[in-house]
Amino acid sequence: MSESPGSSAESGDRPLVRLEHVNKHFGELHVLNDINLDVTRGEVVIVIGPSGSGKSTLCRAINRLETIDDGVIEIDGVRLPEEGKPLAQLRADVGMVFQSFNLFAHKTILENVTLGPIKVRGLPKAQAREEAMALLERVGIANQAQKYPAALSGGQQQRVAIARSLAMRPKVMLFDEPTSALDPEMINEVLDVMTDLAKEGMTMIVVTHEMGFARKAANRVVFMADGLIQEEATPEEFFTNPQSERAKDFLSKIL
Ligand code: ADP
Ligand code: MG
Repeated sequence: MSESPGSSAESGDRPLVRLEHVNKHFGELHVLNDINLDVTRGEVVIVIGPSGSGKSTLCRAINRLETIDDGVIEIDGVRLPEEGKPLAQLRADVGMVFQSFNLFAHKTILENVTLGPIKVRGLPKAQAREEAMALLERVGIANQAQKYPAALSGGQQQRVAIARSLAMRPKVMLFDEPTSALDPEMINEVLDVMTDLAKEGMTMIVVTHEMGFARKAANRVVFMADGLIQEEATPEEFFTNPQSERAKDFLSKIL
């Protein structure tokens, strides 16, 4: 007898994020070229590659900030809605942290974290505050809860942005170059939070060139160039023995 779709056995095995034959053009530019990518629950996938290779577009497509031309993207077995369909649930399932922190400047740190849970998850204020304080504690910012974003360093703001995303209880977290805008001395405090998150079992897709983090936290490296996934490997394999010329060339420039 065959398993019916959605049975518990199947939902336990199926990828949390699935991209099948995803294509996207910007005019003439084939920015995502037949992308196939499965991310299993609890997996940490690093996406690496030269500037302009389509990494941000990939993240934005998974979070449905961009539509795709063809192919399928599924989150936990649910196909991404077409244009015009409600996106609130999807956006709650897929957390995203950008290079720029994008905090609400005129709201306190605490309000930044409680806003989504109150508005989208419908949590009572007191419960939202309690959960937010626990998350701020987790990222080491609880003592700054009443401040405004401008009073915090870049590293602290990015940690708040991570807490804000987590407050929506996402199934997967996307990070698009989360440390690229930070002063060097603040990079590790953000990577440490991400490493903890990975250890706790969060499913993560992380665009970064931080090799120390990749080696410590990633299960898999996906190397993109020219809109194509050129190769996939463990961090150890990829950084010590890249297969494609594109990857060798890229690594020679960043190592
Ligand atoms: P990466 O994050 O790897 O640097 P991006 O996904 O940001 O790459 O961009 C891939 C390519 O798509 C780049 O050539 C970029 O200029 C182009 N691009 C990105 N967004 C748009 C857009 N909204 N309109 C037109 N071209 C875009
Ligand atoms: Mg980018």
